[in-house]
Amino acid sequence: MERLPEVSLGHKLLQHEQSTRVSKEDDTLHEKCAVFGVYAPKQVASPLVYLGLSALQHRGQEASGISSSNGGIITYKGEGLVSQAYQKSDIDKLHGGIAIGHNRYATFGGKEHMQPITSEKNLVSLAHNGTLPRTKVLEAFLHRNHLPTDGLNDSEMMQRAIEYFVEKGLSIEDAVREAYPLFTGAFSLVVMTKDKLVGMRDSFGIRPLSLGTLPGGGYALSSETIGLESIGATTLRDVKPGEMVVIDQDGLHEYQLAEGQHKLDIFEVVYFSRPESKLYGKSVNEMRREMGRQLAREREIEADIVIGVPNSAVPAAAGYAEESGIRYEPDALLKNSYVHRTFIDPAPGGREEGVRRKFSTIAASIAGKRVVMIDDSIVRGPTSKVLVDMLREAGAKEVHFVVSSPPVTYPDFYGIATPTQKELIASQKTVEEIRQYIDADSLQYLSYEGMIRATGLPEEMFCTSCFTGKYPIDIGENAQGIDFSL
Ligand code: AMP
Repeated sequence: MERLPEVSLGHKLLQHEQSTRVSKEDDTLHEKCAVFGVYAPKQVASPLVYLGLSALQHRGQEASGISSSNGGIITYKGEGLVSQAYQKSDIDKLHGGIAIGHNRYATFGGKEHMQPITSEKNLVSLAHNGTLPRTKVLEAFLHRNHLPTDGLNDSEMMQRAIEYFVEKGLSIEDAVREAYPLFTGAFSLVVMTKDKLVGMRDSFGIRPLSLGTLPGGGYALSSETIGLESIGATTLRDVKPGEMVVIDQDGLHEYQLAEGQHKLDIFEVVYFSRPESKLYGKSVNEMRREMGRQLAREREIEADIVIGVPNSAVPAAAGYAEESGIRYEPDALLKNSYVHRTFIDPAPGGREEGVRRKFSTIAASIAGKRVVMIDDSIVRGPTSKVLVDMLREAGAKEVHFVVSSPPVTYPDFYGIATPTQKELIASQKTVEEIRQYIDADSLQYLSYEGMIRATGLPEEMFCTSCFTGKYPIDIGENAQGIDFSL
């Protein structure tokens, strides 16, 4: 594993950024990431951020970084999993009671755009979960103020804009207030100065961000509530769409920067978030179980066992078994937790080979059985195809593939790694054609209404763009390549 040079204090970090900038084409990075922040006046914050990032590892495995403040901002970033990216000695150098962190997951770009982001000025550190599908306004602002944008991605430009106002002498509160209208897209941000911690969400609240209190005093911010629990914090509430929270020596300050509307990405419920987390105060595990029950209500299948593709479809499989009365078989299909990222990174031998390395079957549990196999989604298709093959090789008599979400027909522009629309199998093939491609005996998707019902919340509270093509935030030029008739 390649590692970055030791602790990056301002100018050293900038040198690194300059030497690894990428071409303009790579600017449209699509990331689903984790952000975390701690304000703990009586403790050292960085070990808590490290733990929080470990609990949020599923949101990004490519790189990890932490900034902390001990009167000045210190930043360390490294490639790989949280457990690989840092040595204990790196964390030991991150002093102070304020820290923020980031786990990165990106389709391209490698280490160039690791976060948290600082600049040579080192006044503001920023970690971003989301994507700005349009950056024209932001870029124009930076150019007007003679700040170079070459090779900067959306997150880096956001950092530069906030820092510009801080450098002018504004408080961080006022700096964010000024910069906020320049941010046209999806963002959950944690930001720090040497003495304040800030959290904010875009006015649609597309990506999650929760606020909690620390037992010894202080606050924490986390992409998911499981991150707060992992450090013994108590979840207070979600940061609201359009809201900024600021934590300093006087405590918590709340500001509504823009009128907010709830539009959390429903894919957080379907796939991303950990089952232990709560979204809108509701258990993700329970919502996924209900999706499974709903699938069983929508169509009856004659089968002997139900299995869930680990880990994300396990709750839906349990719910399906409960409702259908078909036995849940937990040990028929297993996942090796040490193999990562088959979705994005074609392994040697292709994506199919990667899926085979990730999963294994236990033939004794499968042979001669009619199997209902549940997965949370079909995106491009190869995962499902290989899994059906593997069950057949293990002797399954029939394989019924059941998906606990509707067909994914539209790409994401708000911070999820999805392929282009043409690569989404459901945008190119009918359900029957997909069944033939994956070679299942039958294929069932959850209805759109069934998915919404399973959340127990109104449809209006979600961004459903992956399924409906209804993008609540303007996607600008990206819309040109999209067929909206699906
Ligand atoms: P595919 O082979 O492209 O159809 O991938 C579908 C599989 O990827 C399913 O098992 C999902 O659980 C998983 N998946 C769905 N969306 C994502 C994503 N954005 N990143 C990583 N894995 C995903």
